Formats: sequence, C-alpha cells, structure tokens
Amino acid sequence: MESTLRRTWAEVNLDAIAYNYTKIREKIGSDVKFLGVVKADAYGHGSIQVSQLLEELGADYLAVSSADEALELRVNGIKMPILILGHTPKEQVPRLIEYGITQAITCKAKADEYSAEAVKAGGVLKVHIKVDTGMSRLGYLCDNGYFDTGVSGIVEACKMPGLEAEGIFTHFAEADEFGQANDDYTKHQFELFTRVISAVEEQLNHKFKIRHCANTGAVARFPETYLDMVRPGLLLYGYGEFAHQMGLRPAMTMKTTVSTIKIYPEGTAVSYGGMFVTDKPTRIGVLPYGYADGFLRSLSNKCSLYTKEGPAKLRGKICMDMCMIDITDMPTVDVGSEVEIFGEKNSIDDLAACAGTIPYELTCAVSKRVPRVYYRNGEVVDRELMLRM
Ligand SMILES: *Cc1c(COP(=O)(O)O)cnc(C)c1O
Repeated sequence: MESTLRRTWAEVNLDAIAYNYTKIREKIGSDVKFLGVVKADAYGHGSIQVSQLLEELGADYLAVSSADEALELRVNGIKMPILILGHTPKEQVPRLIEYGITQAITCKAKADEYSAEAVKAGGVLKVHIKVDTGMSRLGYLCDNGYFDTGVSGIVEACKMPGLEAEGIFTHFAEADEFGQANDDYTKHQFELFTRVISAVEEQLNHKFKIRHCANTGAVARFPETYLDMVRPGLLLYGYGEFAHQMGLRPAMTMKTTVSTIKIYPEGTAVSYGGMFVTDKPTRIGVLPYGYADGFLRSLSNKCSLYTKEGPAKLRGKICMDMCMIDITDMPTVDVGSEVEIFGEKNSIDDLAACAGTIPYELTCAVSKRVPRVYYRNGEVVDRELMLRM
C-alpha cells in the first residue's frame, strides 16, 4: 500500500529502538528483566513491529493498556509475556487465560471479579498486583493511614482461587521531574512499596517472582528502584531529556513534502482568521500536514519545521489537512522538497516544549492516516497504512 507514501509519512527507525534497548540493557544489567511498554500502539510507533523487535532482542515482558491491545499482539504472533496495565472488563477473563495474558489487579473489587470469572472458566489468570504508593490513580491504596488495610487487601487477592500473583508493581508520579521535593517523593514511594512487599510476603510466606516500578525517569536516575524488572517506555523510543543524556536515538522521524508554493504581496492574510499577515512579499509553501495527521493546532504560527535549508517558520493557523511555512529566503526549497516535522534534525522535545506538552503526546497523536515506514540497516523493511482499504 503505497498510495500516500510521498505525502506525509512517519519513518520508524527500528535500529534506533534496538540501539536504545541495548543501551538500557547495559545500564540495568543482565539480572534485571526488561519490560517494554508498547501501549497506545507503542506510543504511535506500531506495537506489532516494536514488539517483534523486542522479542527478537530478548526483552522479557511487554505492557499494554487494554485487552484489545494485548490480543492484537497475540493474534500477530507475539509470544512473550504481556501485562495489561489498565482496566479489563471481567467478561474478557476467559480470553486472557486462553491467550496467556497477564492482568493488573488494581483493587479488591477487581480481584473479586477476576477470581470469580477465572474459577468459572476453570482456569488460572496470571496477575500482577498494583500498589498505589502516591500516584493516586490505580492500585491498592497503602499510604498514610491505609498501610494495614492495603497490605491485607493484597494478601487476600494473592490467596484468591483462580488468580496466580506472579508480580507486584507500583508507578512513580514524579520520577521524571527535577527537584529535591520530586526526588523525595519518589524515594518515599519506593520505600513504601518495599515495605508493602515485605509485609505481604511475610504474611503469605511466599515471595513475588517479579517486583517492578521503574519507568523512564527511574531507569535513568534511580538504579536502586530496578528490583526484578524495569518498565521504560519513552526512553526506549529515544525522546526526552533522559534519552538525550544517555545518548539514545529518536526512533520516529515525521516527514512531509511541499505541495504548492505561492508568492504573496505584502499585506496578505494567510490561512483561517488572518493570524499571520505578510509584511513583505512572501514565499509560502503549503504542506499536506494538519491536525488530522496529528499536528497540534496550538502550534499555529509558533514553531518551525525543518527544510533542507534549515528551519522554516510556520505561518498562520494549522488546518485539518494542511499548514503553511515561510520559505522566502530558501530558494532551493521547491515543490516536492521534503520537510521534517520532527525527528533527527527538528527535535521532538523542542516541538513539544513549544506546544507546552511532552513528546509522548506528539508521537501518540500521529494519526492512522499517516503511513509508517519501517527501517532496518538503512533499508525499508515494512510499511503500514492503517486505513480500511
Ligand atoms: C506508561 C507507563 C510506563 C512507561 O512510562 P514512561 O514514562 O514512558 O517510561 C510505565 N508504567 C506504567 C504503569 C505506565 O502506565
């Protein structure tokens, strides 16, 4: 399917992901398991391709956010253990058992439901118990006055028929923020997590096989939190400050092409609302890349995109399917010239900062009408267009 490949496309460099995996592996050591977070279609990179690569590289676990995301991987031949981090309706329990998918247990109500469904199905559901140590989202609440009730709730879940508690985990809320108060918060969460584990293991007289908590920020900054397994997402894809510090490589490069060029006289309003008005004769290039492709409209008239002659300023409002750049002083940029939206030359981190967001949001936003082109050893190994055709 190549119909739109030269319009706007995302190049996914599998070598970069492999390189990042190897670097993170070196950092964590061979005794610590590696879980690759591939939720949200691997942050927009394509969960099947990324999971196949991780399986080949010897990663230990994958994590997704829903049963659909997990089943998509199984149906496409992924054999590694997969953990569902988020909510799964109890009706799906038989399928999780059938497909060998691990489910997070986030509270007593869920433990009860999943246990009952597993017993009814005559099988055993592998689970990881989630502990809320301060993220205040999912998990058994264990902080402040809730330590004893949290611990006894977890012990109860571990003993339920139909459930096999292979692991226990928590999630850090501030490990990727810099500041003493943030560091203290992470340390508190970790200290509480280990105390919960000790108390539960003592009451059960049984040790969890896999204890895990380290996301990207903790992998980069807090080696003491690695325990049995780490759980990076963003770091694997090579974005953000920590990836930069570790010399990792950005996996995705978004590209588009100049579709039309016009020269407008002074005083011409460009795009919806006339947010930009030319102050001299201005050469404007129209790019087939808009908010329906995943561009954030809040970047209108703000950022620059990268041409072969360097950064070109975005002019006027970003439309659904198009945006405009100023190429007045870039005579060699012509119809058909490639423009990098973000990637190796135009850092996604800078673009995210300009939009007041994080790189996660920009790669997740790349929409399904943008074809992904996969590279390995400098060659195209796969192409995917996610439209129904
Ligand atoms: C998304 C997610 C991660 C990965 O976070 P990064 O910041 O991308 O490393 C880890 N654990 C949980 C529970 C998550 O939801």
